[in-house]
Amino acid sequence: FIEFKNVSFSYSGEDNIVYAVEGRDFYIGKGSFTAIIGSNGSGKSTIAKLINGLLVPDSGVVQVDGMDTADDKLIWDIRKKVGMVFQNPDNQIIGTSVEEDVAFGMENIGIERDEMLRRIDSVLTIVDLSEYRYHAPHLLSGGQKQRVAIAGILAMEPECIVLDESTAMLDPIGRNEVMNVIKKLNKEKNITIIHITHHMEEVIDADNIFVVNEGKILQKATPREVFSDINLLRSVRLDVPQISELFFKLKDMGFNVPVNILKAEEAMVVLLDILGVK
Ligand code: ADP
Ligand code: MG
Repeated sequence: FIEFKNVSFSYSGEDNIVYAVEGRDFYIGKGSFTAIIGSNGSGKSTIAKLINGLLVPDSGVVQVDGMDTADDKLIWDIRKKVGMVFQNPDNQIIGTSVEEDVAFGMENIGIERDEMLRRIDSVLTIVDLSEYRYHAPHLLSGGQKQRVAIAGILAMEPECIVLDESTAMLDPIGRNEVMNVIKKLNKEKNITIIHITHHMEEVIDADNIFVVNEGKILQKATPREVFSDINLLRSVRLDVPQISELFFKLKDMGFNVPVNILKAEEAMVVLLDILGVK
């Protein structure tokens, strides 16, 4: 669905050029859940902006569903297909009611009123905020605000949603709410999800993880593969999930355990076995 072919992009500053993305090819399949992880300044937001045409590459090609993002005539079609949710929930609130906020994007693309009302109903149900329809958005929690932002994007019926650290400013409850919504959209509506995050527990269920460092995609692999290489994660200054860390230590201590354990339930089975508990 999304394809990067030999893409590079640089920001030209005062007297230097920052290579934010450098020539690696990759593609993201339709209906997949891809996580992008990498430390601050590694190039994640640049990749996100290249995907929906907010930035265009210096060289190489970015295609969304076969459409070249550098083609001015296609930019609205591309932005309709790929919605973006950003980090700060407050910057994404524009209206005086939740309903008005959800309607904003639809108004911009000229959806007629009856259809707009129908979609508002439907998307507020999906993000579980129907009862907040007439509430003032600035009084909602961070997690609720991000769900309003997602509802506004959903109302434009995108095929893909890019979340650029959209959980970073939320508390654990808010993060959970947002994760549940995006997993549901991926599974039930087949919406392609690209989730950029610092929270490793949010990427365990992804189909693929891209590890980004200094503008390059270092690794593209399944969560199990990525988290069984904790030295790579450390070398790019990323957190290692606690369960991965525990199993690495057990292995180091001479226990015969796998190092690709991701979830508490799997860990339990192995640990009970070591302890000789049936
Ligand atoms: P991330 O989202 O992973 O933190 P970014 O994609 O924002 O990383 O940034 C990648 C690199 O590009 C960093 O070195 C950053 O300082 C630089 N950069 C980002 N935006 C700009 C900009 N508008 N002007 C100049 N340099 C930028
Ligand atoms: Mg960023």
